[in-house]
Amino acid sequence: MIVEQVWTGNSYRNFNYLIACPDSGEAMAVDPLDHKKCLAHAKNAGWTITLILNTHEHGDHTGGNKAMIAATGAKLLAHANAKDRIVGIDRGLSAGDVIKVGRSVELEALDTPGHTMSHVCLLSHTDQPALFCGDTLFNAGAGNCHNGGHPNELYETFVSQLAGLPDDTLIYPGHDYIENNLRFTLDREPDNGRAQSLLNSILDQDPADALVTTIGLEKEVNTFFRLHNPSVIRRLREAFPDLPDEPDPRTVFVRLRDLRNSW
Ligand SMILES: [Zn+2]
Ligand SMILES: [Zn+2]
Repeated sequence: MIVEQVWTGNSYRNFNYLIACPDSGEAMAVDPLDHKKCLAHAKNAGWTITLILNTHEHGDHTGGNKAMIAATGAKLLAHANAKDRIVGIDRGLSAGDVIKVGRSVELEALDTPGHTMSHVCLLSHTDQPALFCGDTLFNAGAGNCHNGGHPNELYETFVSQLAGLPDDTLIYPGHDYIENNLRFTLDREPDNGRAQSLLNSILDQDPADALVTTIGLEKEVNTFFRLHNPSVIRRLREAFPDLPDEPDPRTVFVRLRDLRNSW
């Protein structure tokens, strides 16, 4: 499996992806908003785009579909329940469905509600797994829930699906928000030395050559995975004095998500 992370350079800071089979040169474009850049990358690499996948229905993820289909004839895949919100889905996906790209690449669809209620993440069947996570999980952050999502479901997705992935799973999110997210982590947990050193190291990074994190690293620097951390809970109590002595992790998650909305 070859992964090309395509930096759009737009104001939403979207990442698009090409996932290619090294044996056949067939490729899948994930959320190819910047269809021109995606097509140029594919052409340079000698790849044929045969599939398009939308992680969810928001326009900054689906906006390139029409032009990409016109240019390639590729088939469109998305969550089965997105059929009324994404035009022209050829294959609706459910949890556990396997998507084959070319001869040797297999990706499994995860049903990951929370950012929206018809959001899929893709997990590669490779020695080192890779997760294409749209707007569910960001580097050091989590998707918002105010355009069709629910924080309770996002919490369930984090604890029941994402937290259980192997530590070496590579993270390929739908946006470059790492700097702001690390600043939020440090606001919530000022003594997180790993988040501080990571922030220092990415401050002058080129998003076109961005750091690819892992689930293991996310558990160190992403406040939405650190729901039992005493510093996180202590700081949260300053904002929410009614927080119980030992708050359940769902409450911590939902309140962190709430604070992030206005941070
Ligand atoms: Zn979105
Ligand atoms: Zn987005």
